[in-house]
Amino acid sequence: MIDIKINDELSLNKENFMVIAGPCSVEDREQIVGVAKSLKKIGVNVLRGGAYKPRTCPDSFQGLGEEGLKLLVKAREETGMAIITEVMDTETLPLVEEYADIIQIGSRNSQNFSLLKAVSKYDKPIVLKRGFGNTIGELISATKYLSMNGNNKIILVERGIRTFETTTRFTLDVSAVPVLHEKTEYPVIIDPSHPAGVNRYVEPLAMAGTAAGSDGLMIEVHPEPENALSDSAQQLTIPQFQDLYKKVKMIAQINNKNVI
Ligand code: PEP
Ligand code: MN
Repeated sequence: MIDIKINDELSLNKENFMVIAGPCSVEDREQIVGVAKSLKKIGVNVLRGGAYKPRTCPDSFQGLGEEGLKLLVKAREETGMAIITEVMDTETLPLVEEYADIIQIGSRNSQNFSLLKAVSKYDKPIVLKRGFGNTIGELISATKYLSMNGNNKIILVERGIRTFETTTRFTLDVSAVPVLHEKTEYPVIIDPSHPAGVNRYVEPLAMAGTAAGSDGLMIEVHPEPENALSDSAQQLTIPQFQDLYKKVKMIAQINNKNVI
């Protein structure tokens, strides 16, 4: 597995298990800085938060845009955490690249080849989420667009695929972890929040993904999930996340991984 340097303190490689946590969307200063401080205290070093949100309906909250990016930077300044945020289009890519430590490409853009080519021109770590209608082969092909200019700092995310099942939001394909490990050199992390769709399923999915050998997790955590402006039902409270974190840490150790 390749070694991906995130910042001066953090590297993701075969020895490490990287936990990324934070709200679905950046909403205001108090929310993002507050949640960042709580997460850092628990041991998390990478903060997530969407500033540009891919919403199914145009009348849903679309994110704070550049203001959201600036608030993430405030949270980084106050905690020392690395920040990851989603880029939605080529138009806002230079801005997202300027602020973020890791560029996230969402499920809906996983095969947006012009966006992938544009991102390939930068040298930042990239998180590529699996399109929910994509095979593992298609995900691997998408990585070739990202690495076409020599940047191989790519982290893959299994975040659930669309199946006939409707009791969960998506179906987490745990097999993607060993299959991707066999077929690529890139770290593979699990997002248990988006397949779960409701917070009570997040912990079992996180534990299953970790046990399957994932190299990390990306989990949505909100100080007040009931008031969240996006993905309210699936976000964990800080105490719920703290509980999950303890369990996951034990499982990661079985796989000889050091939680970062
Ligand atoms: C997200 O991480 O907030 C997100 C929109 O996820 P996905 O692209 O996997 O739906
Ligand atoms: Mn979300």
